[in-house]
Amino acid sequence: MKTMTCRQLGGPCDLAHRGETHDDVINAQDQHLKQAEKDGDAAHQPARDEMKSRWRHPKKSLGWYREMKQAFADLPED
Ligand SMILES: [Zn+2]
Repeated sequence: MKTMTCRQLGGPCDLAHRGETHDDVINAQDQHLKQAEKDGDAAHQPARDEMKSRWRHPKKSLGWYREMKQAFADLPED
């Protein structure tokens, strides 16, 4: 398992997501941003909007995915 924070994934806080793969932490971040939006958390809104636009433009977002995949790969195991 590895840990990536909200901030490492482009968000504004230090909440830690743990997962076996980069997809796990990206999905956890997606859920976290959805919840933040529901809660009316303005600090997370820009990150939430970016995530939404990634789902809409998956090809344009490949660079971001590769970056997150690489960042995850570079992390030490917990
Ligand atoms: Zn956060």
